[in-house]
Amino acid sequence: MLLACSAAGAAPLELRLPSGPGATPVAASGIRHYPEAVQAIVDVLAGPLGLPVPAYRMEVHTEPAEFEQALVRHLGVSAETARQAGGFAKAAVGNRRILVNDTLMSRLPWPERLLTLAHEMAHASQLELARHRSLVRNQWLVEGFAEWVAFRVVQELGTHSLADERASMLRRVRGARDGPGLAPLADLDTLAQWVREREKRGFDAAYPYAYLVTDVLIERHGYERVLDYFRRHRAGGESAVHFQSAFGESMARFQQALDARLAELIK
Ligand SMILES: [Zn+2]
Repeated sequence: MLLACSAAGAAPLELRLPSGPGATPVAASGIRHYPEAVQAIVDVLAGPLGLPVPAYRMEVHTEPAEFEQALVRHLGVSAETARQAGGFAKAAVGNRRILVNDTLMSRLPWPERLLTLAHEMAHASQLELARHRSLVRNQWLVEGFAEWVAFRVVQELGTHSLADERASMLRRVRGARDGPGLAPLADLDTLAQWVREREKRGFDAAYPYAYLVTDVLIERHGYERVLDYFRRHRAGGESAVHFQSAFGESMARFQQALDARLAELIK
């Protein structure tokens, strides 16, 4: 007799993001499971970082085909795109869900998984700040802020040293500047531009660079201004207008200030 459960793939592990810090702090060094990882990250997001955490579902897919099907179902991508993404994407956010590709994720040690999960959960917080309005422009800031938050989370949890990680990112960005070059922010605006520049110039000119640009923005204007920028999307409108209102300067002026600061940071 055939049992259906032995033939079918494993159902994804599903959990809901908790809305606030847990009753007892989670010791990050002992994390071995997704629920405790998620709680530890929420403790930092909702605690010291003061970010809202939406009640998103997290689906942990252990079967590659199921992760690809979830990308098609929840992100609306084509089967071909989903197949390509399944080969490199460790996680994705869409339709109020965080989809985890455990086939790739389980190859990483837990501290690195915490970093990836924190990045995706930061995207969920951005969307909650914007009341789920579209955040498709200024991709350098959408991705840069998710990286910035993720590195703060793992620093707070004690699994990474932010000073070491920042020094490593400065080296990577210097290498990118001296190699393929760094794109002007105006060329990292739409998702298509972000993907194109990532392909053309490589990883270090994308994520570590976006982290550093966000760090300069926060150094110049403060963390709260960035949250204000995302909140301004609640009523719709243009991201460029929201940038001007939140930071009191145009993108062009910020680009000038960024170039001057980078010249000091990476000589
Ligand atoms: Zn991201």
